[in-house]
Amino acid sequence: MTLIPFKHLNAIPLEFDVIVGDVSFRGTLVHKKGKIAQLNGTISGTIQIACDLCAEVVERVLDEELSFYLSDGIISENEDELDIVEITTPMIDMEELLNSEIELIKSDYFCCPQCEGKTLEQEF
Ligand SMILES: [Zn+2]
Repeated sequence: MTLIPFKHLNAIPLEFDVIVGDVSFRGTLVHKKGKIAQLNGTISGTIQIACDLCAEVVERVLDEELSFYLSDGIISENEDELDIVEITTPMIDMEELLNSEIELIKSDYFCCPQCEGKTLEQEF
């Protein structure tokens, strides 16, 4: 099940499990209030990622816990919650969510095991 109708979410956590390539995304979706739902999940598996220092492509093992909010459509009112992903379609596309999370992870700074020692000399 990769498409979840937003309207079907309620107070009982709905489990999801989606796999893209070598990465799996498991967790629950629960309706919070109004147009807001919360996602809690774990991304695990491996991705191919280029080292930011030597550009070598290596396998990176993922084990990331995620928790963020989803809104049913664009939210105009000021919500206090920080991480809100606006879902503009009637269905939540879990595969698309996972893909964008993977893109986020890939855009993070990453260095391969060979370069790890060198990061101490880097300035951030
Ligand atoms: Zn490297």
